[in-house]
Amino acid sequence: MTPVDTIRTIETFIVSIPREVPYLGPLRPGESVNSKGYVVRRGNRSIYPTTDMSVLVRIEGESGRIGWGETYGIAAPQAVKAIIDELLAPTLIGRDPGQPVVINEDLYDLMRVRGFFGGYYVDALAGIDIAIWDLFGKNVGLPLATLLGGRRHERLPAYVSGLPKATLTERCDLARAFVDKGYRAIKFAAAMSDDGVVREMAALREAVGPDVDLMVDLHWKYTAGEAIRLIRKLEAHDLYFAEAPCQPEDLEGQASVARAIGVPLALGEEWRTVYEYRPRLEARAMSIVQPEMGHTGVTAFMQIGRMAQAFHVDVIPHASISCGIFMAASLQAAAALQRVPYHEYQHSIFDRNLVYTTGEMDCEAGYYIFPEGPGIGVEPSPRLFDHVVAGG
Ligand code: MG
Repeated sequence: MTPVDTIRTIETFIVSIPREVPYLGPLRPGESVNSKGYVVRRGNRSIYPTTDMSVLVRIEGESGRIGWGETYGIAAPQAVKAIIDELLAPTLIGRDPGQPVVINEDLYDLMRVRGFFGGYYVDALAGIDIAIWDLFGKNVGLPLATLLGGRRHERLPAYVSGLPKATLTERCDLARAFVDKGYRAIKFAAAMSDDGVVREMAALREAVGPDVDLMVDLHWKYTAGEAIRLIRKLEAHDLYFAEAPCQPEDLEGQASVARAIGVPLALGEEWRTVYEYRPRLEARAMSIVQPEMGHTGVTAFMQIGRMAQAFHVDVIPHASISCGIFMAASLQAAAALQRVPYHEYQHSIFDRNLVYTTGEMDCEAGYYIFPEGPGIGVEPSPRLFDHVVAGG
């Protein structure tokens, strides 16, 4: 069968959007920005950029239509760009964008026997995968959710992620302001709870009342035993879920926490493929999975989502630093899955970055508004290209 379109060019751009307050809030004592613009957060011993960085992928077909993708780029995005430009792009010329899953499997196979089944390599695949699905949708005039089997949800509840203020009082005020705007779920970060996680939870519950779902991100900080003791104390304040209590490699620890606590455990933002999710699902290490579209791309996101469904596990997609392209893909894919009680809403990133995409995507009064139109439903706006890194 003659393809509708074939891939003509693949280009990548590193985007770096300045922000006033660093991700996770103002710098704490002992934290400083290094010569490359990164800061190590003492609360969880992880490195973060001080701008919003990601890698944009542009795929043009012989049709002249363009598919857009985006992948995670918060640390050393040059690595992902090099993998795409040097290794993957030349293999894609002439391929049929109507076969995104076939292409994704082929690209994964290129490096699997060398052990590249995660990290930067799979991030590169994710950016390409989103762009190919977008081009496919544009070529056939259908939204991504339709290509994935149909839009099951007319709207998706958004949970407010993070309260990036310096003091507990300010964080409680911000939480109340979101509730006043119609949001019904808020997650706070243990790494930023200077006065103690239990005290933070108690104060937030007091501030927002009994009808708001409160979640905590434990940022991989605890041993299993420490996490069980802490989460049991938080349960007294009606916790909706606890996220990422133990280190990512500690499958047994995660599973023992999940068994011992009385609330759902949510995991998965750092994993990219079904091969990482499957053993955790089999071990009943969580009852909510949090795939991050910037790491998975559409193809793996749907595999993970459908596998989770087979384990009777909810999907609450993670949403990290995106200029809006992989966010749109995440909303489209989430809309095609059955059990999605919430989608993460990184208000400090999402709201500000709306000016960098065209399309109706938005988040208002507690719900996401889906982007309409073919493919992922949004395009980069000309303003985004003001933030492309020189040489990127
Ligand atoms: Mg998290």
